[in-house]
Amino acid sequence: MSTILAVAQHGETILTLAAAEVAKSELNSEWLNQLVEAMHDTMTERNGVGIAAPQVYVSKRVIIVASRPNLRYPDAPEMDTVVMVNPEILEKSEATVLGEEGCLSVPDERGQVARAETIKVRYLTLQGEQVETIYTGFPARIVQHEVDHLDGILFIQRI
Ligand code: ZN
Repeated sequence: MSTILAVAQHGETILTLAAAEVAKSELNSEWLNQLVEAMHDTMTERNGVGIAAPQVYVSKRVIIVASRPNLRYPDAPEMDTVVMVNPEILEKSEATVLGEEGCLSVPDERGQVARAETIKVRYLTLQGEQVETIYTGFPARIVQHEVDHLDGILFIQRI
């Protein structure tokens, strides 16, 4: 059974807050795993390619990045779903690319946003393993969009 959560909408305070880091004691916990599962179900049901915990009213630094073609993003490249706890963008390329973005929290609005083309990101898995990886193109755009949510920023503020 899937759990579909309510998605916070533009104008709500939760979307403007800097989210708190997930504590070590919360890694591998039942509540964190359930949160991520519900975030994933909610994202999939709404045809999202990413989601951040503040969008489901949990002000914690957790995001899901899951580029794949769907109704809202027919040209999105396919990638494995990645859950990132406490993600940090360590490096951004100077080269930026313009690309169209939307957001489950900003209904019916799309805009061209300039984002770094390539980024290096460090995060923890749900099990607490530290991962460093490089993303480029659309997945890099999603990571930057979702990390913005953790800092209380919506894409419409970057247009
Ligand atoms: Zn968003």
